[in-house]
Amino acid sequence: MAIREDLSAFFKDVHWLMDILQNIDAGLIVMDKNYTIELWNSFMQNHSGKQPEDVLGKNIFAVFPELSERWFHHKAQSVFVLQNAAFTTWEQRPYLFRFPHYRPITGTAEYMYQNSTIIPLIDTKGRVEHICLIIYDVTDTAVNKLAQQTANRQLQELSRIDHLTGLYNRGYWESRLIQEFKRFDRYELPCSLIMLDIDHFKRVNDTYGHTVGDDVIRQVSRAMRAQIRDLDIAGRYGGEEFGIILTGTNAEGACVFAERLRQTVENMVVYAEGQQVQFTISLGISQLTDHVEDYRAWIEKADHALYNSKEGGRNRFTVI
Ligand code: GH3
Ligand code: MG
Ligand code: MG
Repeated sequence: MAIREDLSAFFKDVHWLMDILQNIDAGLIVMDKNYTIELWNSFMQNHSGKQPEDVLGKNIFAVFPELSERWFHHKAQSVFVLQNAAFTTWEQRPYLFRFPHYRPITGTAEYMYQNSTIIPLIDTKGRVEHICLIIYDVTDTAVNKLAQQTANRQLQELSRIDHLTGLYNRGYWESRLIQEFKRFDRYELPCSLIMLDIDHFKRVNDTYGHTVGDDVIRQVSRAMRAQIRDLDIAGRYGGEEFGIILTGTNAEGACVFAERLRQTVENMVVYAEGQQVQFTISLGISQLTDHVEDYRAWIEKADHALYNSKEGGRNRFTVI
């Protein structure tokens, strides 16, 4: 009688355990050493759309080609051999099984982000012949974190950009100038700085008003953005004064650039109440050499060259 009662209690326990395993809100897959699936709970069934009869007794890689065999084998081997659990986060690998997620609002996730754990199942003889793979749905966490990262990146980008021109603002531009100065110290690759200023800009403001003045500043900035290369760094240094760092470019190359920009601006037209407004720029060029003490001296040199262009009659460039 006592044995019968024990047995019935035992079966009741097992039944409950199986119920819990089936209904727990995590994926459970038990596999043997050949990765043959032996247990497949409801979570896995619901999200993959595969019934136990579709997967039980089958090799996991045959059923889920998206699961990288090399990677998983490496992970699982350490569990078999060391008898320790192994973890993977969504940040290392967004998912193991490509399940669609069913959150209608989050447009950012196409699939369920997953954390996973592989635990060793130790048998009565102390051997590990099976492992259990546990899958957690972490889509909410991942989507939130990714949205936060994107927002931070955008904020950082915004804080570097001058609103009127879309060029780098002075603070960020100067930090890049310092960086290029240090890089030159180390690698001695040619690098040139151009400072430029719009000629008689006060006249534009006084004659046509600030809005037209702003248009002129925007047009000049657009020409700069269009003509620089990917590695060049253009910024708004002051009201209508700009700096361009031409990386990998010597003074000769910088002159070609400056002359092209000068001509482009000379040919520009901004319309103000039916009138055509034309304008020019003056530029100063300084190639970095060992004799330039620090980045401030580099700016001063280019500024000095710019001053000479103004003195020489404007609408021209000068090299120092
Ligand atoms: P120069 O040829 O010697 O450069 O003569 P300039 O009249 O251009 O002289 P300067 O460079 O000193 O002129 C700067 C003027 O730019 C003064 C200021 O009112 C105007 N300014 C500065 N920032 C802005 C801006 O964002 N928008 C507008 N519309 N004007 C600005
Ligand atoms: Mg000016
Ligand atoms: Mg100025």
